[in-house]
Amino acid sequence: MSYIIHYDVAALMVTLVVAGHFAIKKSVPSRQASMFAWVLGLATLANALDLCTIYTIENPNTIPLWANSLLNMFYLLTFNAIPAFYYSYLISWTKKKNEWTPVHYFRILSPYCISILLILSSPFTKFIFYFNEDGVYQRGPGLFTLYLIVIYYMICAILQVIIHRATLARAQKIIVIVFISSSFCAIILQQAIPNLLIIHLAIAISAVIMYLSLQNPENYYNQQFGIYNRVAFNEMYETYTSRGKSFYIIGLQVEGLIFINETHGMGAGNMLLKQIAEYLLSINGSNYAFHLAGTKFTIMKPHNIHNDPTKLIGELQQRFKEGFWVNGIKCTPSLSLCLLECEGDTIDLEDVLDMITYSLQEAASDSTTSFILATNEILESGRKESRLIQLMKKALHEGRFEVYYQPIYSVKDKRFTMAEALIRLKDDEGKFISPDEFIPLAEKNGLILEIGEYVFREVCRFTTTEKLSSYGLKSVDVNLSAVQCMQRQLHSKLTEIMDEFDVDYKFISLEITETAAVMSSDTLRFNMDELIGKGINFSLDDYGTGFSNMATIIEYPFHTIKIDKSLVWSAMEKPKSLLALKHSIHMVKDMDMELVAEGVETLEQTNMLKDMGCDYFQGYYYSKPLPAKDFLRLLASQKSEIQ
Ligand code: C2E
Ligand code: CA
Ligand code: CA
Repeated sequence: MSYIIHYDVAALMVTLVVAGHFAIKKSVPSRQASMFAWVLGLATLANALDLCTIYTIENPNTIPLWANSLLNMFYLLTFNAIPAFYYSYLISWTKKKNEWTPVHYFRILSPYCISILLILSSPFTKFIFYFNEDGVYQRGPGLFTLYLIVIYYMICAILQVIIHRATLARAQKIIVIVFISSSFCAIILQQAIPNLLIIHLAIAISAVIMYLSLQNPENYYNQQFGIYNRVAFNEMYETYTSRGKSFYIIGLQVEGLIFINETHGMGAGNMLLKQIAEYLLSINGSNYAFHLAGTKFTIMKPHNIHNDPTKLIGELQQRFKEGFWVNGIKCTPSLSLCLLECEGDTIDLEDVLDMITYSLQEAASDSTTSFILATNEILESGRKESRLIQLMKKALHEGRFEVYYQPIYSVKDKRFTMAEALIRLKDDEGKFISPDEFIPLAEKNGLILEIGEYVFREVCRFTTTEKLSSYGLKSVDVNLSAVQCMQRQLHSKLTEIMDEFDVDYKFISLEITETAAVMSSDTLRFNMDELIGKGINFSLDDYGTGFSNMATIIEYPFHTIKIDKSLVWSAMEKPKSLLALKHSIHMVKDMDMELVAEGVETLEQTNMLKDMGCDYFQGYYYSKPLPAKDFLRLLASQKSEIQ
């Protein structure tokens, strides 16, 4: 029988090109990559051996019979290993190494062991192949069993894809279908036309598709910066964890890139990142440096005596201090760093990525140190923050924020003449979340602007629809955050809303803290002048908690000073606080401003404050902050009492 070897030759060329490309383009050395290298290597070797055996079968006199027999055995052993490795490669997509059970090993190894036995015993049993007396190659009666074993692996592969279809990518599913269907067709064809050698071409085509779509080193590479990307990081992380040894990850975030982009252009920013990537790659033995996203990079290293993370962190900080030259300009971006120590497979990949993100955020926001240890606590608080942010966004979207009103008692009028609007938010289970928890977070990410506007609008709507002034109420206080005070158009926004609901400007009083005053001095002053000009009053909130209250009181035209509850409370216990409170009240009164004491909880406190000349009281002794309906009921009852 003379064989048609053209397809085999073409297949060999194709696999050689793929193998060459794969070897030159350094792929990330993950478990999947090494599995693929095995599949590719075996396919190339089997292909070459197939051509050799064809030659020796067609020209039996070229080598001794025993050598010919060995060569054929070697070929069959290699060829039959391909589906076994291919199946393992498939499993490696869905299972980490330490998740492989003895059942997996049994499923992979046992059929191949059977084929080994059948092949090695064939010279004696003549079951798979043999050479007759004339030295001519003959197919044995059991050759089909080898094909059955190949089909077994194909069925396993299909089942694997079906079971894990949810976790596999589309490309992965397509590859399995292509590989299996083309190999299956090739097997059938080869059975029908025994001299047509087509199976290796089917394998080669599958290898090409596999390489281009899944194992392509470019999938693992950020072309722009010439460094491994996040996909590579994910695979390397799994590879490291499956080794069960300790290793560490250093997260790096380059700060101040926005400034460089704005002043020198995006191109300069990208060049800087490229230089940083090159530097990270050049660090002694650290070819496992990755670009995660934006200005975030990581380095992954085994933890041993040669690899001390603290030394490396010192080196990184030193290098960044020296700066990078971009287009003749020296850039010294600051660097936030975090260190995550890993021991085998103890942390999920998703947790690791979140931990790095949150730790870098933390490191960046801490002005004293730019380095932080990534811990579970950071992960927990980061997750909590991001859940809270989501909740706030949802609450804004669905109008779930509520405004409560805490009445303020007037000593002169002997009734409630003012109230403070206080925001309330419930979580999905209906539990209240303290504003002290979500307001600072909303300030950090800018959501406070929307929240502040929501509260202000709600207060205006409530004031008008319920005709609050008819209950004898003279004004409602609304809290303004420092971030709001930094907006130059704040004044027009607020008056616009008041006009929309036809609210008397005098009915609204705005509370700001000393921090807001310090942070936004010029803009705040501008807004204050504009709004005071229209009749809106300002109160200084939390007096007695800051450092330079005096300067703030002198500098800004406040109408009212609100004494913080901590000062009220400590005046009951400490003589010095009592003196501070007494003199503060006198000073404020002498400056012709009004006084509200917060946190009044007892009759004793009320009497003390009354004796000192305080005008207004706000606190649980009088009323807690109330939902709008209850607040109206309270106002209605006091109205009827007066009448
Ligand atoms: P704040 O402006 O100092 O508000 C007064 C806080 O003291 C309120 O806490 C109020 O419920 C509480 N309080 C009043 N009387 C007593 C008392 O007798 N005893 C005790 N223990 N507490 C009393 P709340 O509502 O939890 O608000 C906390 C902070 O959240 C507020 O402090 C304010 O800084 C901020 N906040 C609340 N609503 C808003 C808002 O709409 N916008 C902005 N920017 N901040 C707000
Ligand atoms: Ca307040
Ligand atoms: Ca306050």
